[in-house]
Amino acid sequence: MTPAECSDRAYPVTVARKAHPVFDTVTRFLGAMLLRLPTWAAVAAISGTSVALTVGAVLAVHVLGPGYGDGLRRALTMGSVMPLIVSAPVGWIVVGLLRALEREHARVLALAGHDALTGLANRRTATERAHRDIDMARRGGRPLAIALLDLDEFKAANDRHGHAVGDALLCATAEACKRTVRAADTVARWGGEEIVIVMPDTDQAGAAVLMERVRDAVSASRVPGTDGEAVGCTASIGVAGLAASDAAPPTPSVFEQLVATADRAMYDAKRSGRDQVRVAA
Ligand code: GH3
Ligand code: MG
Ligand code: MG
Repeated sequence: MTPAECSDRAYPVTVARKAHPVFDTVTRFLGAMLLRLPTWAAVAAISGTSVALTVGAVLAVHVLGPGYGDGLRRALTMGSVMPLIVSAPVGWIVVGLLRALEREHARVLALAGHDALTGLANRRTATERAHRDIDMARRGGRPLAIALLDLDEFKAANDRHGHAVGDALLCATAEACKRTVRAADTVARWGGEEIVIVMPDTDQAGAAVLMERVRDAVSASRVPGTDGEAVGCTASIGVAGLAASDAAPPTPSVFEQLVATADRAMYDAKRSGRDQVRVAA
């Protein structure tokens, strides 16, 4: 089973009732249009459309059918006033519900894409962004590098200071990474005490320099221990760069290869004594 299949199995997306695709497209389009307007304009658009449709229907019946005679004016008045009275509050409720739905959707997306402890992007988000960045790098013939950071002897730190201090160390590490890299880089929690960093427009040499700064920032971070003492941790980091290749394999496998290569470089750093950056050969 691939990691993607594994996570799809863990979080199956079930849709209770499927809408007809045309209905789905039209309602999504109209909803998006309404959400772009200020509330008063959206309500006015709903009321105006409602009045126009009703008056149109009354006129159509008059033209096509036997006619209303004297009753036409009354019918037109009712046809304009009733939808105005009814559709304004209903439209206001609909726009309010659409806005609430949009807010919830944004919140759920943010929760689904981030790690609850560190607030970093999670593995799913990192993978999506890496695929996008790799595609763009290959199309533009630009470099890209990724790094895998693993905290050193973290299990011992947990055992010595407790898991709460371990959690604080993870958060401090996440902060140190985020404030050191550039805004275009993605920092994500890859596994327990592993962080992946995707660096678009960066070659291996540039990434190694940046990761030395990250390593410095991580080893300088301190969190309070259970007795108030300052607790720190070091990190080993492996770096891999995107190779320019004629027979380009598909993006997902390129990313998997980059992670595997960075992982090997990271284990080289561990074997060489930890607290260092290693660049893949
Ligand atoms: P190495 O230097 O070889 O990487 O050794 P290590 O101890 O860091 O590596 P190991 O894989 O043996 O242990 C990783 C530890 O990370 C074990 C696990 O309990 C801890 N860990 C993973 N996720 C969390 C977390 O969310 N919070 C805390 N506090 N600890 C975590
Ligand atoms: Mg590890
Ligand atoms: Mg470790």
